[in-house]
Amino acid sequence: QRVCIAIDGPAGAGKSTVAKLVAHRLGLLYIDTGAMYRAVTLKALRRGVDLNDAAALTELARATNIQLIPGVRQTVLLDGEDVTEAIRSPEVTRCVSVVAGVAGVREILVDRQRQMAGETDVIMDGRDIGTVVLPHATAKFFLTASAEERARRRAKEMAEKGYTVDITGLIKEIQERDYRDSHRKVSPLVPAADAVILDSSGMTVDEVVNRIISWLEK
Ligand code: C5P
Repeated sequence: QRVCIAIDGPAGAGKSTVAKLVAHRLGLLYIDTGAMYRAVTLKALRRGVDLNDAAALTELARATNIQLIPGVRQTVLLDGEDVTEAIRSPEVTRCVSVVAGVAGVREILVDRQRQMAGETDVIMDGRDIGTVVLPHATAKFFLTASAEERARRRAKEMAEKGYTVDITGLIKEIQERDYRDSHRKVSPLVPAADAVILDSSGMTVDEVVNRIISWLEK
């Protein structure tokens, strides 16, 4: 029986930071499913595909090769090109939840995610891992934090990358993305019924990681 751990939650809750550390400590492969939606979004923006055209976006997703190369910094290859940085741009971030709301795009990416989880022991982060992608996951966590705290963390991350950020605008953007992610028709962001809910506001990364690991060791 393969180990598969699901970590879901809203933007900026610290899922990827935490999941990477848990992966490292437990020897699991970390899979960032948000990167896959971001890669399809980047390609759509570059090609000028109409983001309201669900059929075109689905076709685009089908014809796209996305590789996640494990490492200290997970590298994302879009049709062979390194887009690790490009998929984090503010423009992709603004548009990704629209693309992720397309049922056809989700079907294609979910299939690929299940395939990856079938090949090795994984910890996967996203929005619908515990509910849709891996309903029989070994363990499910739903990581959350207040919008203010998440905006502060995102601001710090972006400032390190050289983007100038306005914190009020960021809070608004995070709230809007939360709203779109949790109110969309397909796979809305909700905790799985059997997920462990962790609010990381006021917790350090290490505290969250230790909490998850001790829960897994129970
Ligand atoms: O995790 P990250 O912020 O990179 O995800 C970007 C976007 O991709 C999310 O806001 C959400 O719209 C979408 N997403 C999703 N399902 C997932 C992972 C990400 O819908 N499993």
